[in-house]
Amino acid sequence: MTAFRKKLDPKTTALIKKAARSQAENGLKEIVISSTNVLRRKRELAGRRRVAEVRLYGSLEEHYREICECQKCPLGATRTKFVYGVGSGRAKVMFIGEAPGRDEDLQGEPFVGRAGQLLEKILAAIKFSRQEVYIANILKCRPPNNRDPLPEEMATCLPYLMEQIRLIKPQLICALGRIAAQALLQTTTPIGKLRKVWHEFQGTPFLVTYHPAALLRFPTYKKDVWEDVQMLRARYDELNPVN
Ligand code: SF4
Repeated sequence: MTAFRKKLDPKTTALIKKAARSQAENGLKEIVISSTNVLRRKRELAGRRRVAEVRLYGSLEEHYREICECQKCPLGATRTKFVYGVGSGRAKVMFIGEAPGRDEDLQGEPFVGRAGQLLEKILAAIKFSRQEVYIANILKCRPPNNRDPLPEEMATCLPYLMEQIRLIKPQLICALGRIAAQALLQTTTPIGKLRKVWHEFQGTPFLVTYHPAALLRFPTYKKDVWEDVQMLRARYDELNPVN
């Protein structure tokens, strides 16, 4: 610890000792009385701890096996089946919704009810099959009565989706519905204003369209969804020209 030549009053001495102890505990070898340094060091250490906590997997199968019994949030206790994702592990296009519904919860697969059938028709219209894309949700467990996911549930579950994206490395991502779009883009902008433009999600081009369930309720969205998916297909064709 620094030697102080000038005699200091007891209160100041105590404060300096406290600061020095805190800095030593946080790994600052050279003791400098500066709260900025302490805070900076704490942030560095917290960042390192966060990085250390994120485990990376070699395959979707390995990732699934590791997380399929997750109970990190209360939805784990009320789900029937864990709903991981479906499609090709090498998909170039990934569709992301918010959470499993009743049919998905019963079958353990995303987008299998009426909304899922409609999504398949939409995919077919732009010449994609369900098997060649990848479909997942932010939440892997159904919220009771299909209520909206809570922010804390999404925050807890999101690392699973992030790992799926890292493993698949899609060229393009399409968010299905307001909740998925706003959660991934971290915005409260209405979905109507998020459509029709390319965003970026962690370096991947990202498009937003309505959830197929919304389309079932409001058939007037059909034209908008058609425009959105054509935009998606055009970008896909640009990235994957046929020789
Ligand atoms: S919703 Fe996600 S975080 Fe919550 S229990 Fe299911 S898998 Fe785990």
